Amino acid sequence: MNILMFGPNGSGKGTQGAIVKEKYNLPHIESGAIFRENIKNQTEIGIKAKEYIDRGELVPDDITIPMILDRLKQDDCKNGWLLDGFPRSKEQAVRLDEALRAAGLDLDIVIEVILDREIAKNRIMGRRLCANDNNHPNNIYIDAIKPDGDRCRVCGGELSARSDDQDEEAINKRHNIYYDTDTGTLAAAYYFKDKAENEGKIKYITLDGAPSVKEVTAELMSKLG
Ligand code: AMP
Repeated sequence: MNILMFGPNGSGKGTQGAIVKEKYNLPHIESGAIFRENIKNQTEIGIKAKEYIDRGELVPDDITIPMILDRLKQDDCKNGWLLDGFPRSKEQAVRLDEALRAAGLDLDIVIEVILDREIAKNRIMGRRLCANDNNHPNNIYIDAIKPDGDRCRVCGGELSARSDDQDEEAINKRHNIYYDTDTGTLAAAYYFKDKAENEGKIKYITLDGAPSVKEVTAELMSKLG
């Protein structure tokens, strides 16, 4: 099962992605998390990528595309994957499509979480990361997942805010890329939507990201079947 997740930063895409990963027992490949790991370990990729990430810009394709396509060739991806954060542009979508075709692989499901831009921005600025698990949801602006004081509501772990989450200008830049239907991330999503409509192989699922996590998950589960 090969699955792509789309959704603006702040839409709860990561949270729903973790649920999809459990349901199908897939490795959750998150391009942003791979970059953060590389930055932490001060690898060559990490050092090159950091300046773009800090500015809220896309890391150049000559770094990003081979990094992701190599990751999809690793052993744990043999029975499928859930790819999240890639493709982020129409160009990346075309390159992924070509790479899958060359490898004889099909895309099975594409999930698009739809959310208003302003709501997404507030959610990002309230997001907190747990030191023990990136998928533990904590957000100071969402009642249902408010941290427990200044600790993770799930495990009591230490919380921090990602520096790029607090930079409004960088958030706007990231959203400009996401909501761009000509060459940006929505263009990438719609590239696969067109394929789903024209070729019929891909199941394209849209989710309203505005309700609570539980409600979005319920919609997701009913649409996945
Ligand atoms: P995320 O955790 O998905 O918000 O990603 C954090 C940052 O990593 C983004 O703002 C980009 O700078 C970079 N990044 C993640 N995925 C991609 C991608 N597919 N192409 C280029 N840059 C990316």
